[in-house]
Amino acid sequence: MRAMVLEHPRTPLVERERPDPLPAAGEVRLRVLACAVCRTDLHVVDGDLPFRGPVVPGHEVVGVVDAVGPGVDWPAPGQRVGVAWLGGACGHCPFCRAARENLCDEPEFTGYTRDGGFATHVVARAAFCVALPAQEATPLDAVHLAPLLCAGLIGWRALRMAGDDARDLGLYGFGAAAHLVAQVAARRGIRVCAFTRPGDAAAQALARALGAGWAGGSDEAPPTLLDAALIFAPVGDLVPRALAAVRKGGRVVCGGIHMSEIPAFPYALLWGERAIVSVANLTRRDAREFMAVAAAMPLEVTATTYPLARANEAMDDLRAGRLTGAAVLVP
Ligand SMILES: [Zn+2]
Ligand SMILES: [Zn+2]
Repeated sequence: MRAMVLEHPRTPLVERERPDPLPAAGEVRLRVLACAVCRTDLHVVDGDLPFRGPVVPGHEVVGVVDAVGPGVDWPAPGQRVGVAWLGGACGHCPFCRAARENLCDEPEFTGYTRDGGFATHVVARAAFCVALPAQEATPLDAVHLAPLLCAGLIGWRALRMAGDDARDLGLYGFGAAAHLVAQVAARRGIRVCAFTRPGDAAAQALARALGAGWAGGSDEAPPTLLDAALIFAPVGDLVPRALAAVRKGGRVVCGGIHMSEIPAFPYALLWGERAIVSVANLTRRDAREFMAVAAAMPLEVTATTYPLARANEAMDDLRAGRLTGAAVLVP
């Protein structure tokens, strides 16, 4: 197999040949068809998350099962499945027992604590593979399904945390996650305001095309107060700005795993029972729910593909905001 490996923190990935990995009990091996690049991959590579040893990043994997370890009933060889960030959970800690496996005390994370999908092959725990919409049920191919596995899932979890009564929704940072959640929200009759980097006309045009009623810079005020705001950009300054844009009782949901420091702000911005919450990881239930939503609507996925060997370039483009939609690596 070939893999792009993070050998030392804050260094470019290096391409390595390795022996094909063998799935252990309860695991499957996938031949990777596509793996999207998530901002969390940047946080792993850039050292924003503590270095946990050499690893193959990538946790938005679509692949075909090509080897199965002992004791695996599903998925079967030849099946197309997804692998997402939650690579494993212990099943017995208080969080797992309370159906909050996203907060597991002993979690495994794909592309961080176990090797991920910036490779030709990946081994995953079978029980944590994600069932994808059947090939005949979706027009999306592997490249366009891959961004659903984190951008889509985290976007979905963040949208649910906005509350069922949210009718006016702000999306801060219009990248891979927001471009998917905007469509799901618009489909549900939610009015979407999209906030991009000031002057990012391409992202604003994409937001309007995907159902946002208003799109502007993150330094602008929305035309109406919002019921909730989802922040996908890793920029702490956006928290007080989003608080200023939500009505009394509104929620600000932070969707990223890492954010620059949140500046001090007057208590008046929080007063009025406004709430700030974070979204941490995801559950297998999120995956089941979101894949059903994705299969039931015409979801447009904007993706830019890169050959696997150009993973560093894909990450640079994401880091610099040169991308519209999602970056996807293809072996
Ligand atoms: Zn647990
Ligand atoms: Zn991710």
